[in-house]
Amino acid sequence: MKLSNRIQRVEGSKTARFIPLIEGLKRQDRPVISLAIGEPTVDTPAPIIDATKRALDRQETRYVDMAGLMGLRTALADRFDGCGPENIVVFNGSKQALYAIFQTICDPGDQVIIPVPCWVSYAEQVRLAGAEPVLVPTKDHQLDPDAMAAAVTEKTKAILINSPNNPTGAVYPRGDLEAIARLAVQNDLFVIADEAYDFFVYDNLPFFSLYDPAPLRDRLILTRSFSKHYAMTGFRVGYAVAPTAVAAAMVRLQSHLTGNVCTFAQHGAMAALEMDEDLLIRRRADLQHKRDLAFDQLAGLFPCIRPQGAFYLFPDVSDHLRKGETSGDFAARILEKTAVAVVPGEDFGMDGHVRICFAAPDDRLLDAFERIREVL
Ligand code: GLU
Repeated sequence: MKLSNRIQRVEGSKTARFIPLIEGLKRQDRPVISLAIGEPTVDTPAPIIDATKRALDRQETRYVDMAGLMGLRTALADRFDGCGPENIVVFNGSKQALYAIFQTICDPGDQVIIPVPCWVSYAEQVRLAGAEPVLVPTKDHQLDPDAMAAAVTEKTKAILINSPNNPTGAVYPRGDLEAIARLAVQNDLFVIADEAYDFFVYDNLPFFSLYDPAPLRDRLILTRSFSKHYAMTGFRVGYAVAPTAVAAAMVRLQSHLTGNVCTFAQHGAMAALEMDEDLLIRRRADLQHKRDLAFDQLAGLFPCIRPQGAFYLFPDVSDHLRKGETSGDFAARILEKTAVAVVPGEDFGMDGHVRICFAAPDDRLLDAFERIREVL
């Protein structure tokens, strides 16, 4: 018996594979430092935990609206000008939201333009929808609007933009995003904005959301996540903001897929939206400090463009590659010799680099860089 051609063409998530790998190394008592998977290591804030427990105590354990709790969708809609609960769909993380988007808008043969390097799941999710990812290089990790325009064909269905970017930490300036908005309008394309890291912008830099250019709204599908912003990755709550007809279509898909997102987790998410932002702002300031600490540690090791957002460094390691070695071989060598896990750049469509997550305790970051320095 043979598996479907569709699933045979798809590779497992290159970042998610680190979770069992690291757990296995820890079981062997290796002193592993994982700077691989992208998640905050700080605790989920107490108001979120308390609200989730209270929801469990109230038996909020049943099926609810498949689009998401009305209270949660209303609170989210209030954050987007001109938006109502009918424009919000709650998903099991923005990862599932993105999957649903491609399933909802793509037909076989359609193309989706994605600037590279890019997060590991985009291309595979596009392929799972029968469509084709069109990977367009960036310039020093910033968008190249001319290259994006040149990539548009009759088959192009959407442009995907991820700012702040995973894996580079680049934050795209307003002018470039407005150029993408114009390109989408001129060519009648959807724009998919993955804004999972919208809260994590440093140096007081303004974050420009693709929700802001009003002419884009009837073709914009935006995703955000509770995972990173509120340190609740395991809750699996993210959402999409979409034109009413697109949102309704995604709910139809959701109704056959998972049904609603875990009911009590959604109550935790509602509490997240109500919590005092002071703690989160302090955590962001601490991440900026970690960005600086990690960036300084890189000096003399690898060239790196200073990230302005998210929580990743994406240094160029090509000077340290042995003959014929890829970034995957390099990351495997580092893991073997130092027990420090980083993600190879080739997994993000850009070899010669590695992704280092700096959302880790300071002493672990320093220890990790010390180990890498010794080996190199
Ligand atoms: N988005 C995070 C990362 O890039 C979480 C893992 C994943 O879902 O890929 O590491």
